[in-house]
Amino acid sequence: MGPFKLLIDGQLVDGASTMSVINPATEQELAVCARASKAQLDQAVAAAKRAFPAWRDTPIDERRKALNAMADAIQGDLQNLARLLTQEQGKPLADAMGEVFGAAAFFRYFASLDLPEKVIEDSDARRVVSRRRPLGVVAAIVPWNFPLILMAFKVPAALLSGNTVVLKPAATTPLSTLRIAELVKDLLPPGVLNVIADANDLGAAITAHPDIRKVSFTGSTETGKKVMAGAAEALKRVTLELGGNDAAIVLEGNDPKATAGKIFAGAFQNSGQVCIAIKRAYVHESLYDAVCDELAILADAAVVGDGLEQGTTMGPLQNKTQFEKVLGIIEEARGQGKVIAGGLPHEGKGYFIRPTIVRDISDGTRLVDEEQFGPVLPVIKISDGEDALSRANASDYGLGGSIWSKDLDRAMDLAGRMDTGTVWINKHAELAPNIPFGGAKLSGMGTELGEEGLSEFTQMHVINMAKG
Ligand code: NAD
Repeated sequence: MGPFKLLIDGQLVDGASTMSVINPATEQELAVCARASKAQLDQAVAAAKRAFPAWRDTPIDERRKALNAMADAIQGDLQNLARLLTQEQGKPLADAMGEVFGAAAFFRYFASLDLPEKVIEDSDARRVVSRRRPLGVVAAIVPWNFPLILMAFKVPAALLSGNTVVLKPAATTPLSTLRIAELVKDLLPPGVLNVIADANDLGAAITAHPDIRKVSFTGSTETGKKVMAGAAEALKRVTLELGGNDAAIVLEGNDPKATAGKIFAGAFQNSGQVCIAIKRAYVHESLYDAVCDELAILADAAVVGDGLEQGTTMGPLQNKTQFEKVLGIIEEARGQGKVIAGGLPHEGKGYFIRPTIVRDISDGTRLVDEEQFGPVLPVIKISDGEDALSRANASDYGLGGSIWSKDLDRAMDLAGRMDTGTVWINKHAELAPNIPFGGAKLSGMGTELGEEGLSEFTQMHVINMAKG
């Protein structure tokens, strides 16, 4: 597959240079793809700017049709896209298929929304209406853990509301996004969607670009802060979906086996590289040993390997930097708790770490307090839900969290006081295109998905007319 070119002004073009993309399961070069220069970024922004007035004035039904056609194109290439995603990102093929399918569904969801005019007042004195107008050129910056689904949080919402887009995937996972550029290039007028790839070096130029009106960013908190600072000069809008350290609070009365299975799934999906993965489990002392034992059984049973191989349930870490970071966190945790499953990288090629469970560990350690973003879960013993809630809330992060209890009133009470954007009860990490999503504290700013997410791509425009 290939040749993995940039999409600028409706044309697939070579990059000013090229870069190598590594398969994390083999550490071999998977493909060489286009790498944009700063001049090509400027060309992409200029094309988006030129395309904006006509796209803004295109009837919303036409924009809807374009989004549905894009969804069809993505879904129609399901097999190719999923294989590519597995090879560049590492996740098992079934999960990659789910991501591609999900991305198409998100395009369809946004195509179903409307941006209706609202009558705020219609009295003898005046008629006041509000409308939602597009902003102009929107930059969409995406990380490497879910290249396609996170792209689909942004691109269809931006396009439906009449903006034009410059999309940039992460340096280590550009291929599936460039493949989509190739698939959809004739479905939109030139310049409406531009896709560039970089070697992690164009972000600052994007956020500071005077002709970009909004940056929709998903990535780490550290980079998010730079995005906000870079956007300040031109006072461009930002939506920041950043890191997290989600706590799961498991109260007395839960069935250890059933709960452990769900906790395991919530912690280890995508090898733990999920912003809303369970990153610390606070488990009541009455079921602590049983939950730890069950988690260890599930960890030992995981089939860790190349995502293309049938039967693999967990792939590698996506890149070497993350692999080494997670190994470092595990090493440190060894002296602070008891590793009861996993804990070692496998021998040979590939950034594989077996799912790792650490028990008898507490807050104040790097594994519990930081965002590990990898396949290692600390399990902390608690004697009281209130105490667990205050420990969960002590984090600088506030993305998601969950309460696990048979007593739903109690669960609702604790959930209502958790300082996060989302709290799940008796489940974790469920996202859907119609459910707004966003982080509190250092986990971000603004909302994606749902009607609220759509409106963030618009400017409120009020017309206030005198009567009588
Ligand atoms: P990252 O911040 O290193 O990179 C994210 C993107 O930003 C990449 O495309 C990168 O090239 C670009 N970038 C780099 N420097 C930039 C700059 N100065 N200005 C603008 N853009 C720049 O993050 P990552 O390591 O790729 O992803 C992992 C992180 O993303 C984790 O912290 C994870 O929790 C977070 N994440 C958050 C969500 C969410 O919705 N809240 C979802 C997924 C991942």
